[in-house]
Formats: sequence, structure tokens, C-alpha cells
Amino acid sequence: MGSNSIIQDDTRARPFDIEQPPPIDTTQANLSSKPKTTNLLRERYLPYLYSRESPKTLQTACESPTCDNTFSPTVFRCDDCFGDENLCRSCLCQHHRRHPFHRIRSWTGSALNYEPSNLNCAGFILYLGHNGVKCPRSNSDTKSHPMHIIDVNGVHNMQVEYCNCAQGVNSTPSVTEDKWAQLLSHQIFPATELRPQTGFTFRVLKHFHQINLSSKTSAWDYCQSLIFLTDPIDPENTKCVPVSALEILHHSHC
Ligand SMILES: [Zn+2]
Ligand SMILES: [Zn+2]
Ligand SMILES: [Zn+2]
Repeated sequence: MGSNSIIQDDTRARPFDIEQPPPIDTTQANLSSKPKTTNLLRERYLPYLYSRESPKTLQTACESPTCDNTFSPTVFRCDDCFGDENLCRSCLCQHHRRHPFHRIRSWTGSALNYEPSNLNCAGFILYLGHNGVKCPRSNSDTKSHPMHIIDVNGVHNMQVEYCNCAQGVNSTPSVTEDKWAQLLSHQIFPATELRPQTGFTFRVLKHFHQINLSSKTSAWDYCQSLIFLTDPIDPENTKCVPVSALEILHHSHC
């Protein structure tokens, strides 16, 4: 009786919406054999999962409905956007003006699957002050600045171009010429005030706050997990998070 109720509970707890699997035989003779359901799920799911690792055709083209780029040797796919469109460089940058901290992979045909990439490699620039488009008052002296921006899905190496309007006639009241103020108005907390090179999104600060409260994870351990999220194969590629940035995380819940 006791062993039967354990088998029923185990069956009822399965979260998969498939036909009811047969009860698992726990006799000594069958303990080493894998449950039949595991093989069933593997046969059903793996082909779908594998098919997502490469484009549907070798003749890759941009799949944005508004693009007429019929052939693109390199296409990009965003792991954070809903859907699985392959996009050319131009459409990728266009689509991510309001989503600059998404994780990207690229397909060049030289590997068997999509390779890790990022928006920076596609030529994306994070423009501040105009909803993701270039400031109309930028001039030949306006330059983009390299910056590490840390979000909940890892560290993003980006080029940031600040708004120039504060130096013009029709300046936006909420945007000043100070870089730290522009970053704060875009929900990015700069690690340093002068010439900021590292920033945390407000989202990652809130996320760390909750993780720290619930599981006492230290700022150092949390940053290590973000570095592994950025590049799990070679985390050394990810630039080290500076000490000042760790201090921000330490005090973010104060
Ligand atoms: Zn995306
Ligand atoms: Zn395109
Ligand atoms: Zn501007």
C-alpha cells in the first residue's frame, strides 16, 4: 500500500501535458532501466530543439517583413525576443533600439549552429535622449564611448552616444549634459560619476536586491554568475567587473 501511493504521487507530479505514462516499475530487476517516458519525451522534443540551432535554409535572408534584403551571408537571431526570426545587421539594430540589452547569436555558415555574438558586433550604438535614435544635434565632435552595461542576462559591451541637446536651443529639460544624469534618466546607474565606463540597469539592481534578501548571495557571487551567463564557454573573455561596481551592488538595497 505504501509503495503504491508513492508511485501514484510521482505520476501525478509530472508537469508534462502528455498521455498518462505507465506506472514506473520499481522492482529490483528494472531499477537500472530508464523510465519509458524519458525516452518518449526525448524523441518528441529533441528534433524541435535541434532545429532551432540553425536556419531553416542554407540560403539565409533577412526575415523581417519590412526588409527587402533577399540574401544576407550573416544573419542574427535574438534569444530574448519572442519568435525566431533571422535578421540582417540593419534590421537587428533597428529592432533593438528599445531593447538594447538582449542576447544575440549569429549564423555565418562556418559552424554547425548559431554562434555567440552581440549587438556591438553588429554595429549597434546605444543613443541616449531620443528613444534610441541618434541625437539631431550630434556633430562631427560627437563620439560614442565604450561602456560595460550590466543587466540581469549578463555583461554587455556597448558603444554609448550621449545626447547633445543640452548644448543646443531646444534642450530636453530631463536631460542635462552630464553623462551620469543621462544614464540615470535611462535607468542605468553609473559605477563612476566622471567618464562612466560601467553601469548597472535598475533592473539588475532590483534583481540582486531580491536574490540577496532571499538567499544571501554576495555581490561577488552574483557578478560571477552574470559573467558566466555572458560567456559560459570562456568566462575570462568577459571584462572583470570593477570594485566600485561591486560596491554599488553591496549598497543597492540600502
Ligand atoms: Zn531581441
Ligand atoms: Zn533586414
Ligand atoms: Zn539630443
